[in-house]
Amino acid sequence: MQVIWSAKQLAHQGPRFVRAGQIVPSPETAERATFIRDALIRHGHSLVEPRELGLAPILSVHDADFVSFLQSAHAGWSAFAGADAAAMPNVHPRGPHARRPSGPVGQLGWYTGDMACEITDGTWQAVYAAAQGAATAAQLVAEGSACAYALCRPPGHHAGGDRAMGFCYLNNAAIAAQELRRSFDRVAILDVDVHHGNGTQEIFYRRGDVYFASIHGDPDQYYPFYWGYADQTGEGDGAGATLNVPFLVGSGDGPFLAALTTALAGIHRFAPQALVLSLGVDASVHDPHGRHAVSDDGFRRMAEAIATLKLPTAIVQEGGYASAELGETVADILDRLG
Ligand SMILES: [Zn+2]
Repeated sequence: MQVIWSAKQLAHQGPRFVRAGQIVPSPETAERATFIRDALIRHGHSLVEPRELGLAPILSVHDADFVSFLQSAHAGWSAFAGADAAAMPNVHPRGPHARRPSGPVGQLGWYTGDMACEITDGTWQAVYAAAQGAATAAQLVAEGSACAYALCRPPGHHAGGDRAMGFCYLNNAAIAAQELRRSFDRVAILDVDVHHGNGTQEIFYRRGDVYFASIHGDPDQYYPFYWGYADQTGEGDGAGATLNVPFLVGSGDGPFLAALTTALAGIHRFAPQALVLSLGVDASVHDPHGRHAVSDDGFRRMAEAIATLKLPTAIVQEGGYASAELGETVADILDRLG
C-alpha cells in the first residue's frame, strides 16, 4: 500500500496537556508518527511524499478566516509580551453575544475548543503537510488505487470547520472525503478512533452525500463529552446520514466489534462508492492514553470486517499514542486492508 508521509509533519511540537487538573507532557508527540512510519517500512510498505495541492482542499471544508488564523497565529502570539514558545488557549467564548476579537489571546480562544491544541512555530507547516497527505490519498484512490494511507500527524477528526480541538487543527478525514466527492457521488467516513470524531460530524451534519459513522467511548463519560451520542443522527439533507455507536469506557474486543458491526451495516445501507477510514488505534490495550482494552487480535478482526465492504478506501491516521506496540498495531491493520 502507498503510505503518504512528509517529515514536515514532525515540525509541530505541542509540549503540554492538562490531565485531571495537572499539566503533563502532551501525548501527541512526533514519535507517534515515526513509530508508525518505521513499522510500515519494516512491513514493506512504500513511502511517498504528499502532492502539493495548495489551500484548495483545505478550504473545501474549513472557513477561510480560520485557516488564515492557523497560518498567522504563532507570529501574533510571539509578539505578545512574555508569551511562551507555544500558544496555549485559556479562554473560550460561549453564548450568543460573543464576538471575535483581534488580539492574540482572544483569537486563540475563539478558534479553539479546548487546551489541547497549542500552536508552535512549526504547527502550520505540520498540519498543512498532513492535510496535503490526506488529499493525496483521496486522489490516489480516485485514480484507481484500491487503498491509500495518509500517515497524518497531527490528527484531524476533532477539528471543525472553524475550530481546532483535541490535538487536531485541520480535519484530514473531511478533506479526504471532500476530495473523493469530486469523483464519487456518495462517500462514507468510518471513524474507529476511540474518541468521537466531533469535528467530522459537524462538517457533514447537514449533508446527505457524505455518511459519517463513528464507534467510540460513550461521551457521557469520555472526551469529547458533548458530541457522539446515538441520537445525533444528522439534520436537514443530512438527516439519517450520521451514525454514532458509543460503547462503555474501558471496553475490550466484544463491545468494540459489536459497535463496528452496527457501523458497517449503516454504511452498507447508505451504499457509498468510496470510503474514508479515520484510523485511530487508541482503543488499544497498549495505548497509554485511551483507557480501553481492544486486543491486537481485535484490531485484526476490525480490519478484516472493514475489508468486506470492498470499497475504494482512503485511510487517514487519527489517534494512537506512543507505545512500543503502536507501529505494529497500525501495520497489522494496513496489511489486512491493502
Ligand atoms: Zn482518539
